[in-house]
Amino acid sequence: MIVIVLGSVALILAIGLGVVSVLWLRRTRCAVDCRAHLATFMQSPNGMLLVDRATLRVVDANPALVRSVGIPLAELCAMPIGAIFGSAEGLGADSLTTQLSESPSRLLVEAAQHCRSGRQLYVEISGHRLELLDRSLFALSTRDITLRRKMQAQQLERQQYLNHLAHHDQLTGLPNRLYLAAHLPKAIEDARRVAGTLAVLFLDLDRFKHINDSRGHDTGDRLLQEVARRIRASVRDEDMVVRMGGDEFIVVLRDVTAAGQIGETAARLAETLNAPVIIDGRPLVATASIGVSVCPRDGITMGELLRQSDTAMYQAKDRGRNTFQQFTPGMERKLKERVAIENGLRRALADRRLHLHYQPIVDITTRRVVALEALLRWKTQHAFIRPSRFIAIAEETGLIVPIGEFVVQQALEDLRRWRNAGAAIVPISLNVSAVQLQRTDFPAMLARLLRRYAIEAGMLQIELTESAMFERHGRKGDPAQDAIGHLRELGTRIAIDDFGTGYSSLSYLKRWRVDALKIDRGFIRDLITDMGDLAIVEAIVAMARHLNIEVIAEGVESWQQLEKLRELGCDLVQGFLLAKPTPADACRRFLDGGPLDLVAQGSLTDSLEAVQSA
Ligand code: C2E
Ligand code: MG
Ligand code: MG
Repeated sequence: MIVIVLGSVALILAIGLGVVSVLWLRRTRCAVDCRAHLATFMQSPNGMLLVDRATLRVVDANPALVRSVGIPLAELCAMPIGAIFGSAEGLGADSLTTQLSESPSRLLVEAAQHCRSGRQLYVEISGHRLELLDRSLFALSTRDITLRRKMQAQQLERQQYLNHLAHHDQLTGLPNRLYLAAHLPKAIEDARRVAGTLAVLFLDLDRFKHINDSRGHDTGDRLLQEVARRIRASVRDEDMVVRMGGDEFIVVLRDVTAAGQIGETAARLAETLNAPVIIDGRPLVATASIGVSVCPRDGITMGELLRQSDTAMYQAKDRGRNTFQQFTPGMERKLKERVAIENGLRRALADRRLHLHYQPIVDITTRRVVALEALLRWKTQHAFIRPSRFIAIAEETGLIVPIGEFVVQQALEDLRRWRNAGAAIVPISLNVSAVQLQRTDFPAMLARLLRRYAIEAGMLQIELTESAMFERHGRKGDPAQDAIGHLRELGTRIAIDDFGTGYSSLSYLKRWRVDALKIDRGFIRDLITDMGDLAIVEAIVAMARHLNIEVIAEGVESWQQLEKLRELGCDLVQGFLLAKPTPADACRRFLDGGPLDLVAQGSLTDSLEAVQSA
């Protein structure tokens, strides 16, 4: 019994102790937890606050937030949350207040924190709904992200700067090719959406390369800057002006409404560019050739419109430059032909399919061959192609430089072979284009080859056309002019080809002590029937005689022409009547020192028949 009673007492005690200890333990843990929670709130480096869900006013805030906003807690409490955190630039449309008013269970938002000092911080606010002692609250925690935002802003600015650099041309400040690629498709799309018209104008400056070569790159750069400024100033703000590179510009006219608008713009551009640019006190004129393509008439993609305006621009160049051309489908065919010629010519040069034919220049009284003009021929499977088909393209593409070197070398090689074979050699007259003189040290190349073949400089005569030489490049310091001076010093003869068709600047005849004038075939053709031509030829011959310059009449095809030229006192003649251009292997017969046997040429019979029938 006693045992049972003691046992029961012990059990009750144990249970009591257990309950007490559990209760005690509970109480202690709660106290620790509450203190921990309080400390977390009070000591957190992040701002924390409680906001009333109904009023969206602050209920409580921790010291970190109080410090950060610089407003005492007493004042802070009851302040509307919107007075502390507002939306800021680039932080999304919804402000904290808007989000809280929708009573979300959780939220994460970036906001601008307005501090009493006037400073503005950027904070990230995370929060959740909280039910506490029958109050509905939001518990919010803020984290300062001002530094991160600043870095992001700097990065963005840098990115924008790099973007600008990548899309703009450094020299002129105009948008560049990349910009065009990024914006033209959209402009085309806009035009098509409203069934409108858009025009692409492709501008290429005329002979800019020569300006660059003769006046230096610094002058070239300044000219490009001025040209860019003038183009930009001649079109509307909404139009695009782009520098494609080098001396090429694109103007995109948006929203073309009137039929004459494109032509008017092109004319305005031409007019503004035609006004001289003064650089270092000297005037320069940079005219442009302009090609135009129109969307949707000529194409509806950027590629098509650019290609076609480029094609039209080439047509403008062909038409004598400083003009504008609208694209037509026929132009594309021409361009393809051009590309085919360029590629074919490149291959012909490499495969040694370029040849020289020689045409005698003959003394009108003795009929002796006094010189041979070297004329370039391109041999294809079926025939020889004449230079008129490819010289201009060779000049534009720069291919004329290696071709020109081939011509000099081949002529000297032929002279050397004929001389070695005991022939009475005569000077060879070489056609040299202005581009060759501008772009290379032509005299140095000539001197090197003369030495290699041991031929005297006087055995070469250089034919330069007056139009190519004197129209634009007749200034001091021009490489072409220096080259002529060097050729003179070297001792080669200088002849002016196609005289009468170009500038005919007589002062040059004296300045360069020109040895010969070749009267253009155009004046000889109708010499017998056209009194005007007769008067011109008479005047040229008389002037040349006074200046002690030889005169060569080109393109003599008939006996009457020959007789008339003899009457006028012309010294030398060249033409089909005397001999056609002949391959080198067949030229030995011109070099026996005797008078030219016209019967053997096959021309005599034709001409005599012509005389008899006349
Ligand atoms: P060009 O220097 O005025 O050469 C005379 C042209 O007239 C040659 O044409 C010749 O074949 C042609 N011709 C000569 N006599 C007569 C005639 O009685 N009647 C007619 N109808 N034509 C005659 P080609 O060979 O077609 O050369 C044309 C032009 O190509 C040359 O005119 C010259 O400016 C250029 N050229 C020729 N070879 C070269 C070259 O090696 N280098 C450069 N840069 N140009 C060249
Ligand atoms: Mg010639
Ligand atoms: Mg000629």
